[in-house]
Amino acid sequence: MTDTSPFPNSENDLHALREELAELRALQAIHHETREGLEALEMQLAGIIHSAMDGIITIDEQQRVVLFNAAAEKIFHCTAEQALGKPLDQFLPQSLQKIHRNHIHEFSVSGETTRLMDPYREIQGVRLTGEEFPLEASISQMKRSGKKWLTVILRDITQRKAHEDRISQLGRILDDLINEVYVFDGLTFQFTLVNQAARDNTGYSLEDLLRMTPMDLSSALTRQTFEEQVHPLMSGERKKMEYQAFYRRKNGTTYPVEVHLQYFVQEGNGLFVAIVVDLTDRIKTQRQLQETQRTLSTLLANLPGMVYRCRYDEQWSMEFISPSCRELTGYSAEVFLRGNPISFSRDVVLQEDRVKIFLEIEEALKRKRPFQLSYRIRKADGTIRWFWEQGCGIYAEDGTVLAIEGYVIDITQERMLEDQLRKTERLAELGTLASGMAHEIGTPMNVILGRAELLMRKAQDEHTRKGLSTIVTQVERITKIMNQLLSFARRRPSERRAVDMREVVTDVLDVLQEKLQKQHIQVERNEAEGLPRAWADPDQMNQVLLNLVLNACQAMPTGGKLSLGLVATEKGLELRVEDTGAGMSEEDLKKIFDPFFTTKGVGEGTGLGLTVVHGIIQEHEGSIRVSSLPGKGTVFLVTLPMHGVYASSTPGGESECPSGSI
Ligand code: ADP
Ligand code: MG
Repeated sequence: MTDTSPFPNSENDLHALREELAELRALQAIHHETREGLEALEMQLAGIIHSAMDGIITIDEQQRVVLFNAAAEKIFHCTAEQALGKPLDQFLPQSLQKIHRNHIHEFSVSGETTRLMDPYREIQGVRLTGEEFPLEASISQMKRSGKKWLTVILRDITQRKAHEDRISQLGRILDDLINEVYVFDGLTFQFTLVNQAARDNTGYSLEDLLRMTPMDLSSALTRQTFEEQVHPLMSGERKKMEYQAFYRRKNGTTYPVEVHLQYFVQEGNGLFVAIVVDLTDRIKTQRQLQETQRTLSTLLANLPGMVYRCRYDEQWSMEFISPSCRELTGYSAEVFLRGNPISFSRDVVLQEDRVKIFLEIEEALKRKRPFQLSYRIRKADGTIRWFWEQGCGIYAEDGTVLAIEGYVIDITQERMLEDQLRKTERLAELGTLASGMAHEIGTPMNVILGRAELLMRKAQDEHTRKGLSTIVTQVERITKIMNQLLSFARRRPSERRAVDMREVVTDVLDVLQEKLQKQHIQVERNEAEGLPRAWADPDQMNQVLLNLVLNACQAMPTGGKLSLGLVATEKGLELRVEDTGAGMSEEDLKKIFDPFFTTKGVGEGTGLGLTVVHGIIQEHEGSIRVSSLPGKGTVFLVTLPMHGVYASSTPGGESECPSGSI
């Protein structure tokens, strides 16, 4: 259209005009469409911005907020109203505000359209509440009508970070674990995750292990046996299982392990988690412990006494007693242990000794010192035994008593020996005294006796003679006592030979024949055939039997029966002297061997007869026992060494000089 006239002047012009109009119309239509499109687009965009999961903030060149979407409201705990027109700064930590401001400015002049904000460093945001949180952001810019707009798209990554932190922490923990951890696939059984301990202990690298299965570590397993083994886990029948195995290291050595296995299904995939405990140390400690326990129990079994540990409560209830308890008390150890009705301190220790023990232990505990006690107990069979005990308290850090531990032995034997020793010592003293006395008194007595007899012969009147005769009998009685004392005191060492005890019995009965007849005592003798001879001093045997028979006679003043028996037993030749006389009370029975113990009237008994008998039997290494029932009678049993018992053990046939003891 070069023509300048405002009107069309030709067909051509008209045509051109028509065409231009059509073009214009078309253009107008396009324009209309574009506008509508743009409007729709704008609405769509607003929708997207509104419902976006990420926070979207647009700022102007002064970094003032001009758009603040719903997600941003949620992230910063701030409404759009509160945010619009305010500087972006308020959503950044103070320390970083300046850096960010510069950063954003530098970006806006860079000509770049988008950029990830600080991809290497974590960005922190600040909520309206002042709380800081990690975020991830990108920034983009756009120019429109000479103005520049910057849009920040951001995401609160608090949760993701916490999750990541937890995962990395778990990973570190896993690697720090002492136990080996293996995660493997439920289908292929191939390891998918192994920790540091697994790599260290097996000697395999991570790459090695990720190509392996549990069967490669435990040579005893095949795929089939392993499948069978883990079946209960995969079927859900069991939640976890444990088994022991041997694992083989890369270098060929093996070690014992305990495997704790669990099975999980995650997103349809099965996986196993195995925690593997190396048992090498545990087995070593167990062995050491067993060894110690064995040593201890052998030691306990070999100790003559028992050891215990009891609580410090009212009953001193036992926590432990060694098995030798049965031998010592007749009760098994179990009956004293917790919950059982028998208490050692209450039921076994004699009541008379209980308080004393209690006080001594309390005192020792107070001073934190060990204690030593001796006391009597009643065994299960009723016999009384002497116990000796050493123990001490076990204290807690604050000084309170936790328990009492100690060691107990039976000292009855020692006590008896001690008693005997004391008696023997007393007797020895007595002997010295007696022999001195006999010497001092003997001479004047002889003089008195001689003079009295002389005077008696010369005396004329009956009265004087009677008086003198009394003097003579009384002096003779003194002499008799003196002689008994002397026989006890100045006992010569026994001269032992083979003695036929039947002869001794015959001799004694001969001497006492008259007395026995007068007292109407019937005598019965019982002697086995082919009786061995005794190894003894014949005179002393005479003395023993004489004393026993005399006592028997005195116990049967109105007659009775005296039985004398001789038999050979395992322990030696046994002489039995039995009467049907008065008998003795239990009380007296305990004292009959004591010097000067007599129940007889003055002038009748010296109380030395059985003391002498006992001394002689002891010297012969024999034994004497007695049992008696008041009103019924008494039995004395004397055991003597047999001739030949010693001789046979001495080389060269018969020996006259025995040694050793039975
Ligand atoms: P004695 O005969 O001088 O009294 P012994 O030592 O011989 O002294 O005896 C001590 C005591 O033992 C006697 O007094 C008596 O009580 C008691 N006794 C000894 N033998 C018998 C017996 N066979 N029957 C009853 N009592 C006896
Ligand atoms: Mg006597």
